[in-house]
Amino acid sequence: MKRRVFLGTVGSAASLGTLAYTTRSDDDALAVRIWLSERAGRYDGVADRVREFLARTLAPERRRVEPTVGGTVAVSTEDAARLTSRGEWPLALAAGRLGRRDIDPVSGVNLLVTDGGMRDAPTGYGGPRVASVGGARHIERLESVDDLLGDDWVAPVTTAARTMHVLLHEVGHALGLAHRHGVAARSGDTVVATPMLSSYAWAPDFDPSPTRCGGAIPQTDGLERRLDFAFSACARRELDDDGRDGGRPETRRQAGD
Ligand SMILES: [Zn+2]
Repeated sequence: MKRRVFLGTVGSAASLGTLAYTTRSDDDALAVRIWLSERAGRYDGVADRVREFLARTLAPERRRVEPTVGGTVAVSTEDAARLTSRGEWPLALAAGRLGRRDIDPVSGVNLLVTDGGMRDAPTGYGGPRVASVGGARHIERLESVDDLLGDDWVAPVTTAARTMHVLLHEVGHALGLAHRHGVAARSGDTVVATPMLSSYAWAPDFDPSPTRCGGAIPQTDGLERRLDFAFSACARRELDDDGRDGGRPETRRQAGD
């Protein structure tokens, strides 16, 4: 039974991606829509804060980025990773596209933010066109994008900043990026990780072999850890190429937490 349900949900997620893709014209702005679980919707300003960060951090990759807010969604759990990986959120989007639910998906990224915990991985999940992440209560406390990022787009690792960084990571997956598009670079006594690596850069069990975009992940023990909110130059090129070529199947299929 479980296996049948699993296969069914994966099929639905794939067809949603295909459907969304075929409706997108080449020079469209990147459409990103943000939904909140009902519990996430109890916190103030979460959708606006997410919209502000996505507008800033995705803007260099495309000519225009249009984050919009889709509203609140009733979900069976706040476990954000599970909602996408087990198919509930992709199925809800598919039902919305068919007019069976009051959910209006966009052709770019359909992001669901929940009140799920951010301490134990996986805290989110992203697949083609679909992503979800927890941490609404932390996003409520996050500073504005201008206050947090300054000129260099690098911020200290706080729970609130890390939550937004993971959100970008899952959005990156939804756009076809993988962990190999991440970079962790040492500068003096500091290690800075871009969104597609994020805190994997200092996870003890993460493969430290070279990423496609940035060489080997440096040893981080004893170093200050910081979060770079700009995607790596190599990841940005991948997104640009993707926009021109109309999609790369090998990266489109990338999904993960
Ligand atoms: Zn990931």
